[in-house]
Amino acid sequence: MTLLENYAQIVGEDVIHHLELLAANLQGMKVVHVNSTREGGGVAEILHWLIPLKRELGIDAQWEVISGTDPFFSFTKLMHNGLQGKRVELHPDHLAEYERVNEMNAESLRKTLEEADLVFIHDPQPAALPQFIPNRRGKWIWRCHIDASRPFRPVWKFLRAFVEPYSASIWSLSEFAQPLPHPLYLVAPSIDPLSEKNIDLGHDELSAMYHKWGLDPERPIITQVSRFDRFKDPIGVIRAYRMVREFSPIQLVLAGGGAADDPEGEEMIRRVKENAGTDEDIHVLLLPSDDHRTINAFQRISDIVIQKSTREGFGLTVTEAMWKSKPVIGGDTGGIRLQVVDHHTGFLVTSPEGAALRIRYLLKHRDQLTEMGEKAHHFVLENFLVTRHLREYLTLMHAVMF
Ligand code: UDP
Repeated sequence: MTLLENYAQIVGEDVIHHLELLAANLQGMKVVHVNSTREGGGVAEILHWLIPLKRELGIDAQWEVISGTDPFFSFTKLMHNGLQGKRVELHPDHLAEYERVNEMNAESLRKTLEEADLVFIHDPQPAALPQFIPNRRGKWIWRCHIDASRPFRPVWKFLRAFVEPYSASIWSLSEFAQPLPHPLYLVAPSIDPLSEKNIDLGHDELSAMYHKWGLDPERPIITQVSRFDRFKDPIGVIRAYRMVREFSPIQLVLAGGGAADDPEGEEMIRRVKENAGTDEDIHVLLLPSDDHRTINAFQRISDIVIQKSTREGFGLTVTEAMWKSKPVIGGDTGGIRLQVVDHHTGFLVTSPEGAALRIRYLLKHRDQLTEMGEKAHHFVLENFLVTRHLREYLTLMHAVMF
């Protein structure tokens, strides 16, 4: 069975046939995606399934990852924070390092990038590449996965100069899009229901999780899965947990790891552990970035999944949990708002107090918890699976190329 036939069992034959029709004009087209990490974070997650599926549809797709220095990644993390609204200081040496690393990567990827019909550059890290590929013949598209709705202006001004020459840009939500002199497209991300992260897991595998991670199967489990990042607000999650603990013996799992392009993780982990203190019911777990099955299992054994971000480009962890029929208590921000339909597929919250209130409510009203989880699953089936995402990519490729 081909990869696509496997998806037909979930979304139906018609959807797959539609994708094949859309890909008919794109046969043999050379498409290159470039980002800055192969593991960790939502972008890598998407590229892992997008490339093989495009290839199966006859598109000559490939994925390249840029390499960088520590100062480069410190600077791009600063840029990321700045785009999400934090006031940051831009040092001239860092700006020069950003361009130098892009130039170095342009050198090693030159042939591939010059020959491509279409290049997708993901996020700010590799955004300066086209300026070092003067003989590019294809179209270049910048794909922004970040909540840039209220950027710190000097950061956006710096980045905008690199992004303006692109043929188009793609954003996850209309609120994020910034004025640019080229067509802007909106494409929401998605999850792969057949990946290790999302496939169904057997009863035995899930039961083994309790013993393996020292969890009590008799007491409720609340989980947040995410990189240890200030905007994911893990400390706010601990505060919410403590408020609920006064009434209910819940357990909290904060499962995360780092991403190769995120240098701030370690400091955040230290702060989270300090906040958790000696409480044996707070499980701060550092998982290898490719341990998708364990994340999958944690999402499945949880009663409620929380994603209390204060800024969020999209929040694939929200989609993943909803697919597993879990109601999500999510920060009222960015892409979480697209997924959590307040009071239907979960609850939107703006504070630890709000999160605590909703956790208590759901634990007390189990029927509603189950009903919301089911609605969440159907909402993802309709809106946030790879097949919808792929259809929008194929349509966009027609719009840009023909
Ligand atoms: N993830 C993971 N291991 C971790 C933390 C996160 O595999 O320790 C995955 C998570 O399951 C999700 C992605 O990384 O698929 C994070 O994407 P999201 O859009 O939620 O946030 P980002 O990290 O891109 O800001």
